[in-house]
Amino acid sequence: MFELSKRLKQLPPYLFVEIDKAKREARKQGRDIIDLGVGDPDQPTPRHIISSLNTAALDPANHRYALDQGMPVLRQAIARWYKKRFNVILDPESEILPLIGSKEGLAHFPLAFLNNGDYSLIPDPCYPPYKGGTIIAGAKPFLMPLLKNNDFLPDLKKIPLSARKKAKLIYINYPNNPTSAVAGEDFYRQVLGFARKNKAIVVSDLAYSELAYDGYKPKSFLETGGAKDVAIEFHSLSKTYNMTGWRIGWACGNSRLVSALAKVKSNLDSGIFQAIQAAGVSALETPAEEAEGICGLYQQRRDVLVPGLKSLGFEFEVPKATFYLWIRTPHKTSSVDFSKTILDRADIVVTPGVGFGKYGEGYIRMALTVPEERIVEALSRLKKVI
Ligand SMILES: *Cc1c(COP(=O)(O)O)cnc(C)c1O
Repeated sequence: MFELSKRLKQLPPYLFVEIDKAKREARKQGRDIIDLGVGDPDQPTPRHIISSLNTAALDPANHRYALDQGMPVLRQAIARWYKKRFNVILDPESEILPLIGSKEGLAHFPLAFLNNGDYSLIPDPCYPPYKGGTIIAGAKPFLMPLLKNNDFLPDLKKIPLSARKKAKLIYINYPNNPTSAVAGEDFYRQVLGFARKNKAIVVSDLAYSELAYDGYKPKSFLETGGAKDVAIEFHSLSKTYNMTGWRIGWACGNSRLVSALAKVKSNLDSGIFQAIQAAGVSALETPAEEAEGICGLYQQRRDVLVPGLKSLGFEFEVPKATFYLWIRTPHKTSSVDFSKTILDRADIVVTPGVGFGKYGEGYIRMALTVPEERIVEALSRLKKVI
């Protein structure tokens, strides 16, 4: 009875069942769990953003259906922010689409362009919705391994001709979740050339552009000359302003790509609560010092966790951006086994790399989303069990 659709059956299995069960069990037993597993900021949303929500929520004009294409004030604020931050000019009317968080946009986008038998070129390991959205659209993920020997960038030369022919989309995500790798102009130019030659659309996920350290400023793919001919970029307020629960982000770039996504969404949702959009405008107007403060906190934590883990012999690159550390499992243990071991022995939760794709095997991901004293505590526990 109630046979699942073929597309649902094709979605990758959920790999954390065992770890989740062990975590719940540990909590039930009253063990003091340190959760370095979740990529969700622990700090509150800045006050001025909450105040804007409060004010806007009291205005009955905001209680009705929102415009599908988002409020003009929000689209204009996004355009100003992109100009200021990346010197990229976007037309608020045709090149920007607010989203209910960037995840839904990233996952819905394939519905606009993929048919059965088409491919999406997808980095592996990756943020899971790239694969999920592709499969739900009836198309196929073609994996581009992210390996340490290529600085966790996909090696475009290795994509076979047969896959290039079927590829309609290529997903890129720098600064990268889960590997914390960053990409430079050179890589972006290669991707642009590849997309032009193979008539593929570039889907750039820029969720972590504002979480970068030591003065490093990540670039937008749209800064690459001519990128707007082939690209749509997804951005989010979630990580930058501690707003994961609010559900607000946007897509921007090529107007044909943006309007196609808008058409898909007009059939699926009815816009973002306007009070949240008003709060989004305030978020984008956050003074630079305050945004730097949010990022600085992760940098402080990184600077405690990195030397601590190094002294325990762990192997990883020091992240220049994102709030993740992508760490080799010791002694070639599997990522799930190692994660289970440190949960059992040290009450520390980490994410097994294989959860992000098969090329994530041999790694675990730790997130800098717990206070410094908990990081210190986690290190002292690890020292006892490693
Ligand atoms: C957190 C994250 C997002 C943002 O998701 P929202 O839906 O905007 O909260 C997008 N991409 C990646 C890679 C992420 O890690």
